[in-house]
Amino acid sequence: MEHRIVIVGAGPAALATVAMLAHRSPDALADTTVIDPTGTWLARWRHQLAAQEVDHLRSPVVHHPHPEPYELLRFARDRHDELVRSAGVELPAVGLFDDFCTSLIEQCGVERMVEPTGVVAVDVGVPRGARLTLDTGEQRAAEHVVLCTNPRRAVLPAWSRGGHERRHVDASPEVHRRRSERRLATAGPLDDDPRVRHATTIDLRTDPVPARVVVVGGGLTAAQLALAALRRGALTTLVTRRPLVRRSFDVEPGWIGPRQLRAFEQICDPVERHRRVLEARGGGSVPDRIAGAVVEAATDGLELAEDEGPESVEAAGDRLLVCLRSGRIIETDELWCATGTVPAGTGDPLLGGLAAQHPIPVVGGLPELARDLRWGQTAVHLVGSPTALSLGPAAGILHGQRRGAHQVVESICG
Ligand SMILES: Cc1cc2nc3c(=O)[nH]c(=O)nc-3n(C[C@H](O)[C@H](O)[C@H](O)COP(=O)(O)OP(=O)(O)OC[C@H]3O[C@@H](n4cnc5c(N)ncnc54)[C@H](O)[C@@H]3O)c2cc1C
Repeated sequence: MEHRIVIVGAGPAALATVAMLAHRSPDALADTTVIDPTGTWLARWRHQLAAQEVDHLRSPVVHHPHPEPYELLRFARDRHDELVRSAGVELPAVGLFDDFCTSLIEQCGVERMVEPTGVVAVDVGVPRGARLTLDTGEQRAAEHVVLCTNPRRAVLPAWSRGGHERRHVDASPEVHRRRSERRLATAGPLDDDPRVRHATTIDLRTDPVPARVVVVGGGLTAAQLALAALRRGALTTLVTRRPLVRRSFDVEPGWIGPRQLRAFEQICDPVERHRRVLEARGGGSVPDRIAGAVVEAATDGLELAEDEGPESVEAAGDRLLVCLRSGRIIETDELWCATGTVPAGTGDPLLGGLAAQHPIPVVGGLPELARDLRWGQTAVHLVGSPTALSLGPAAGILHGQRRGAHQVVESICG
């Protein structure tokens, strides 16, 4: 084998795995390589936070890729002004968290470890290990492969592509008439209309913000994008399908410890475990700090169309017409859909390839992994969001990544 361990991806989940190796088995780390097309650590993570102008993490200061939970707090001892207090815990500023990760990368001596290439296939049909095909066509053999690729896909609701979510049965005849008139005058196909954008494609640092923006979504990303558009002087409407749900964290703290997890781990049926994961994540929510800013902005120019769920959007020349459940129609220049992401499941080339060679149950895009987060009996382990059927709803956030890294490193290194 050319490598003992190959880690695919160089995001926070990969860094948690490398840091765990450095902590528990430096010899194994010496025989490890990391592959990511960006050629750098945390590129996607940094891009997402900067593109959405996130100032503080949503997760507490004890969640990060270092194996020791209090290490970031220690690192911050002279930078306490970069922690904000929320819901009884401290949240690190993005810059502080970033400096901490840079220092962790240096401590582990892995600054130059990331190879700038992508993995296009994983062959598990080889004895005692796996063979990776890189996008250069080159092949690599490894005793263990750890996939930290966070395979998810953006969700654009059908109505945002010109389809209709459901018929608007309650609208008054007058509303129907107005809508029909507008449609006749304006209806145009929306497929691939660049004015309908998913949040993951928006970069507030570089993209010009038009005069009018409708942001759709009830989560933190929607709120942050709406506030950012307003700050740039856009006439901004935030449309949500249900009243804004206030919640401090992505996942309730009970899921971070044994309180919820013990019962979750006793469930044998993966379909039921998937249901619990969905229930626990419970759709978009906004922490108090940001919900407060939205309410304040609503008195200062932000239009908040709460519980108005958009039903359709149509092109009308240089405008878009967004039709709400109430029958109201909003004219806008762009529609930003902060409508989330879902597991890519076997639609992801690497997971799809594994499923074809070595089938295991996959529910809602999440594979049912072995106890050590291994794909069946192969040499491939997973860390991060696809491990939710094993680790619960916090699998994809920093805390779950560290737990996953711990389990995988224990399994590989003993
Ligand atoms: C805006 C935003 C804010 C968030 N804030 C928080 C927070 O405050 N707290 C928290 O706990 N969580 C947060 N999260 C959730 C989660 O922690 C992040 O999504 C995090 O980036 C996931 O880390 P990861 O390493 O699993 O994946 P990623 O950061 O997505 O990294 C995956 C890496 O894999 C690489 N890759 C993909 N495919 C291949 C391939 N075939 N070959 C080689 N490399 C590949 C990619 O280039 C990428 O660099 C946030 C997420 C977002 C989007």
